[in-house]
Amino acid sequence: MPVADPQARAIAMQRRLYVKICMRCGAKNSWKATRCRRCGRKGTLRPKNRELGPKKA
Ligand SMILES: [Zn+2]
Repeated sequence: MPVADPQARAIAMQRRLYVKICMRCGAKNSWKATRCRRCGRKGTLRPKNRELGPKKA
């Protein structure tokens, strides 16, 4: 479902992509997180990959 409004699109992108992923358990964490909320590990967080575009049909 493409979002037509560019402003809404920008907000949606930010919400979807500005997260950190734990490399140990795969949990989603907030952008500001320094350690995983699920396994509590420090230094296992990576920013979610933003290179990939939306899924192609
Ligand atoms: Zn974790």
